[in-house]
Amino acid sequence: MLEAVLIDLDNTMVLFDETGFYLRYMERVVPYFEDIVPAEQFRDRLLRGIRGLLRNNGRINNQGYFLDQFCDGCESLRQDVWARFLRFYQTEYDQIPVAVKKPDGLEALLDQLSAWGLRVVVATNPLFPEIAQHVRMSWVGLEPQRFCLLTHLENMSYVKPRPEYYQQICDIIGVSPQTCLMVGNDAVNDMVAGTVGLKTFLTTEADLIDYGAITKGRNIRPGQSYPADFSGPLSDVAKVVSGYF
Ligand SMILES: [Mg+2]
Repeated sequence: MLEAVLIDLDNTMVLFDETGFYLRYMERVVPYFEDIVPAEQFRDRLLRGIRGLLRNNGRINNQGYFLDQFCDGCESLRQDVWARFLRFYQTEYDQIPVAVKKPDGLEALLDQLSAWGLRVVVATNPLFPEIAQHVRMSWVGLEPQRFCLLTHLENMSYVKPRPEYYQQICDIIGVSPQTCLMVGNDAVNDMVAGTVGLKTFLTTEADLIDYGAITKGRNIRPGQSYPADFSGPLSDVAKVVSGYF
């Protein structure tokens, strides 16, 4: 029996040059904080905050953990830093130039999954606030309301590729991992879901897009990635799911 389908966002439902976007993001976010966090400190603090999230073991949410790391040694700035991040994502984030492609059959797939009565989760790495996840979803016209859960910095206390991230999603929506399918483009971050019992589907669209030398895909060392139960273009997910009925 299948009860829920979890779908990654970046380069699964929204195809874009993630590395190029990140570089342009840094160009804009650094000066946005300059009056409260000097530029040379900002990069280090941001990296420390994001990378540190891998060590969050569920004790507090990712927002609190990120701010602990980012504001280490300057705790008095905590409120201002968070407010500034939110304002950046509300006003500037959507202004960053990006070329986006929607995978074939995205809407048809989501409609079909809903018609089958399945719960559908946007299982995007919860490194960013909810408002930022909404912006990237809007690039391909995805409304948050059509999903039963969207993971973000404020509502999760693990990040990918921690297997606990997937267990936490199952706990929140009240299903067992064995009744879920995780769909995503990343052989590590997404396919690790298989280790806690979810079925896994590795999408292939992003691999076929050439973003140029600077953004060649993640270097995965042998032995690091996880096997997928299924693989193919996103639209093939419906065929896999239909096999469960
Ligand atoms: Mg992805």
